[in-house]
Amino acid sequence: EPDAVLRRQRDRESSARTYARSFPIVPVRAEGMVIEGADGRRYLDCLSGAGTLALGHNHPVVLEAIRRTVDSGAPLHVLDLATPEKDEFTDALFATLPAGFADHARIHFCGPAGTDAVEAALKLMQTATGRRGLLAFTGAYHGMTTGALAATANVAVKEPVAGIAADVTRLPYPYPYRCPFGVGGERGAELSAAYTERLLDDPAGGVVPPAAMILEAVQGEGGAVPAPDGWLREMRRITAEREIPLIVDEVQTGVGRTGEFWAVEHSGIVPDAMVLSKAVGGSLPLAVLVYHEDYDGWLPGAHTGTFRGNTLAMAAGTATLRHVADEGLAGRAATVGARMTARLEALRAELPAIGDVRGRGLMIGVELVDPEGAPDSCGAHPAAPRTAADVRAACLKRGLIVELGGRYDSTVRLLPPLVITDEQAEAVLDRLADAVAEVSS
Ligand code: PMP
Repeated sequence: EPDAVLRRQRDRESSARTYARSFPIVPVRAEGMVIEGADGRRYLDCLSGAGTLALGHNHPVVLEAIRRTVDSGAPLHVLDLATPEKDEFTDALFATLPAGFADHARIHFCGPAGTDAVEAALKLMQTATGRRGLLAFTGAYHGMTTGALAATANVAVKEPVAGIAADVTRLPYPYPYRCPFGVGGERGAELSAAYTERLLDDPAGGVVPPAAMILEAVQGEGGAVPAPDGWLREMRRITAEREIPLIVDEVQTGVGRTGEFWAVEHSGIVPDAMVLSKAVGGSLPLAVLVYHEDYDGWLPGAHTGTFRGNTLAMAAGTATLRHVADEGLAGRAATVGARMTARLEALRAELPAIGDVRGRGLMIGVELVDPEGAPDSCGAHPAAPRTAADVRAACLKRGLIVELGGRYDSTVRLLPPLVITDEQAEAVLDRLADAVAEVSS
């Protein structure tokens, strides 16, 4: 009885859970990008476990890897002992790492969530540099544990927590649509980089000496906002010149989603550390920190934990990494993503409630606005979170799961699996277009 399941979950589960409230469905089966509810309804899933499912639900190569591992009698959990599955996963991962990074890389199995890997990265760099500050960006999302939450920008989720470390210097992320400097596009990004550099060199700038800078090459929860490549190269230069380790959070952007295997590859920057989770576990929980060997200063036991790489997750992750690489699925994400974005751009010209369309590969954001409201100095109309929530509901009614994000919860985010077919991509856009037209008419 789906309704009874929903009711019981609502009564017993923490009120912090949001997904269950936004999507009152009880999934019982799934394949590819289709989820089937207990009531028999089918949905196209553009949430993909918040970007986790690079290969969609229950991909045969992932299922095969899990089955093979279970049937082999391998121990499913052995703390951090050296298993063949871990060896294979590390091989598969290192084979995908950006040029210039893999040769000097160390891996630390964190676990099992993205936020754990962020914590590990911050702590590692604080240990390595002896500094305690952190440079992070407006619109950033890095997780919900207290260290990662300190790096996260959204005040609404931070304010109720009294004890978050306060040594973060918040820097302006280049968000061309609502540029913090009042000009959009590349010029706004240049100003953001110039401001960052000046602030770091200002003895009265209030910057606590930073152990690291952490950034997303494309902000995910922040509303699918890609940083210009030139800006990323500037951040690399600025941090390198000041010996500030650069941590790139590829939890959501990684494993082909943005059209390259890793999002840093678009700009060619080589970070000092990368934080990985979501798709690297092939739909099972896994998170790792990879970093330059120069920072490998932890003493044995400095950052241990019980669940640090589960055998099945490593097997599922290996299969996923190999399949994405062998099948060129990052390239496919680039092609399909570009087509979807182009159609959404055309839709924007017809529907004034769509203020901005942006993204990279299959990480796409559609920002909804109040077209009647006065535009700001960048020409952006006021954000419309109510419209966005109504669009999400109208999509669900049409059998399409999309999630919201962005500064004002006004951006519809599309994170389909990389195996989305051309027909599915068209169906997603048909339903979304219909939903926006209905809500904004
Ligand atoms: N970093 C980024 C960029 C993310 O998108 C997320 C999750 N949305 C996290 C970190 C945190 O990962 P988790 O939810 O697994 O803790």
